[in-house]
Amino acid sequence: MKTEEKLYTLRYKKDDLPHLSIKDENSCLECEKEYGTPQPCINVCPANVYTWIDKKIVVGYENCLECGACRVACPFNNIEWKYPRYGKGIALRYG
Ligand code: SF4
Ligand code: SF4
Repeated sequence: MKTEEKLYTLRYKKDDLPHLSIKDENSCLECEKEYGTPQPCINVCPANVYTWIDKKIVVGYENCLECGACRVACPFNNIEWKYPRYGKGIALRYG
């Protein structure tokens, strides 16, 4: 099954409180200098949650699949990461 087909089996219930955020934007600038673009968080995320716009990381947390890869991949430990609140976030569409 292709990734796009697998993604279709999920549904996302938006939590109005973002469960992901960037701790320090200056670290992202350092990261860009050291690793170039796309940065590690962008490279590992299967759901295109992170984008680099005007020298800032923009976080589209609504698409997050809760895999945790970005938290591990960020070399600056710069991502504040927690699960969405109870009943929010992803679930299997037919599960
Ligand atoms: Fe910022 Fe971490 Fe992404 Fe680098 S990998 S741009 S430090 S969030
Ligand atoms: Fe992307 Fe996974 Fe991080 Fe969510 S937890 S933002 S899907 S890498």
